[in-house]
Amino acid sequence: MIRKFIEKVFTRNRGRARPASSPEVIPVTRHRVARAQISSCARRVTETLQKHGYKAYVVGGAVRDLMLDRKPKDYDVATDATPEQVHALFRRSRIIGRRFRLVHVMCGPETVEVSTFRAMQAVGEGDHLKDEHGRMLRDNAFGSQAEDAMRRDFTVNALYYDPATEEVLDYCGGAHDVETRTLRIIGDARERYREDPVRMLRAVRLAAKLDLSIEAQTQEPIREMGSIMQHVPAARLFEEMLKLLLSGHSLECVKRLRSEGLHHGLLPMLDVILEQPLGERFVTLTLQRTDERILGDKGVSPGFLFAALLWHEVLAAWNAAKERGVPPVPALHQAMDDVLSVQAEKLAIPRRFGSDMKEIWQLQWRLEQRTGKRPYRVLESEKFRAGYDFLLLRGESGEVDNELCDWWTRFQHAPEAERAEMIASLGKGPAKRRRRRRGKREGSGNDGGADAPQPGPTDGD
Ligand code: ATP
Ligand code: MG
Repeated sequence: MIRKFIEKVFTRNRGRARPASSPEVIPVTRHRVARAQISSCARRVTETLQKHGYKAYVVGGAVRDLMLDRKPKDYDVATDATPEQVHALFRRSRIIGRRFRLVHVMCGPETVEVSTFRAMQAVGEGDHLKDEHGRMLRDNAFGSQAEDAMRRDFTVNALYYDPATEEVLDYCGGAHDVETRTLRIIGDARERYREDPVRMLRAVRLAAKLDLSIEAQTQEPIREMGSIMQHVPAARLFEEMLKLLLSGHSLECVKRLRSEGLHHGLLPMLDVILEQPLGERFVTLTLQRTDERILGDKGVSPGFLFAALLWHEVLAAWNAAKERGVPPVPALHQAMDDVLSVQAEKLAIPRRFGSDMKEIWQLQWRLEQRTGKRPYRVLESEKFRAGYDFLLLRGESGEVDNELCDWWTRFQHAPEAERAEMIASLGKGPAKRRRRRRGKREGSGNDGGADAPQPGPTDGD
């Protein structure tokens, strides 16, 4: 007992979590997470595994979130059963993953991720490979529960909850870190970031989302190690970026990424954009809106989000092409392709998002063409809603005239006669356009209701 206490104090004084081989058992009176708070699927999974003689605990984000009084996003279970043994016990389950094999168990709409205890140290050749930068390529060597705790990223993520006893097993001092709201890496920060640079992103995301402070030795190396993020495969980076952007705290996350110097290189899109005032305002607004929607349980489309994040790059490339004498439409196509191909290399934006993004961008041009039948065709576009919401953001950030936004707000809901009038009266609006078109429209007898702006944004979702 005394040894354990001294070891813990010593460990903490050095500011580094080193796991003990036997865990501290935290009773429900201290951690206050009752069995009933655990999802029924996660309970069913742990019960079934335990009934068949295996160890099984809820682990990771769910335990951490519950202890912090938050609602978990999903549930992870850790067990000493192999993926095949887990799979054999649940009819609705499948083994997934290569780098990290685990089992998805489905109950109704819920999926619980079940992983077998992993070891930290290389056990068998090929089970635990690192590349030349020290990055872990595979992580499939099974191990004890204590080893499993040690290979996790942060102490608050290495707490094991047993729904049967309502006890939490703590190998790394995570319970204390939850209580003091500290995010602390397990082991040596530099080494852990080298093994998997994505942990730096996770640190930023979890700290922002859960309002934790990053402990000094966990934080310190991030600034200097940002560049190793380039060794992470683009698809994995995209996945992590998406998690970060859809965390409900994207603005805070991006602010922290900037203050950690992680946005350079890591987020090619943000390098340029955030450094110009109009771009920064637009991105800030986009992230704010995204966060509001997520926290209000509304859906967010990744295509829209990435279209917004990259918009100012598209704008710059579009303007440059137009200045070279390329007509607007082909210039826009060139710009979109250029921007997407650069991003494809660095961030592997999946193809389906790419086509949504292009459609939203093209609509920005089309929304400005308000003559003849064009506005009607724009309304029929499948992505009209997204394109229009995007336009409103541009209006709010000061990039386009609010007259254009108000016109579309009104036009989309107006009865046919009013629509025709809105189109016809466009030429009668602001002085410049009126002068240019006067000759053509003389005698139309319409003195233009279009310049009375309609009240603001829609209620849309
Ligand atoms: P959330 O689900 O809220 O995003 P989480 O911590 O549950 O957060 P997951 O990606 O679901 O994140 O991972 C589950 C657990 O797996 C983590 O809590 C952590 O213990 C472990 N883990 C995830 N990613 C890593 C990593 N890169 N290195 C080490 N351990 C990790
Ligand atoms: Mg999780």
